[in-house]
Amino acid sequence: MILPILAYNHPNLRIKAEPVGKDYPDLPQLLEDMWETLRKSDGVGLAAPQINKSIKLFIVDARHYESKFPETKNFAKVFINPEIIKMSEETIYYPEGCLSVPGIYEDVDRPKTITINYFDENWQEHTDTYTTIIARIIQHEYDHLDGILFPDRLPMVRKVLIKKKLDNINKGNVNIDYPMIFSNKKKIKQS
Ligand SMILES: [Zn+2]
Repeated sequence: MILPILAYNHPNLRIKAEPVGKDYPDLPQLLEDMWETLRKSDGVGLAAPQINKSIKLFIVDARHYESKFPETKNFAKVFINPEIIKMSEETIYYPEGCLSVPGIYEDVDRPKTITINYFDENWQEHTDTYTTIIARIIQHEYDHLDGILFPDRLPMVRKVLIKKKLDNINKGNVNIDYPMIFSNKKKIKQS
């Protein structure tokens, strides 16, 4: 089932996510729906808060970048209860977009390399180090669990320049082919 994605100023995107319990109801179905939603929206990552579930879970499909970054070959992964435990001091800029912020792509400065501890969909624990594009996608999705969206990380001058576009998203004036929920300034019940 394709799940609607919350748009930029939806207050539920700002809720800090809770850890996922091993008894979380129907996690395999939720993951299947998230993968289907990500495919439909042609995205590279989807965090649970974007589909109105404030739980520490995101998926990454980096295969879009395969021609440019060979390390993304076959990279499609589930991250449950992730904790970034190390970040490099070296940072790099690279353009980012977000399914909750359609039509806007901006350079974001982020640590180049991270080490992350997480569980996969079989509750196997992993500690992995990622760099460049994979590290970036992971950090973007991880931010969603903290209620942070990439425009928050832009310098003030860029924020001012994209304000009109953000206002348009908030009004629902977007050209997308996946379902979205636009803010009514009220928190909606989480299902
Ligand atoms: Zn995003």
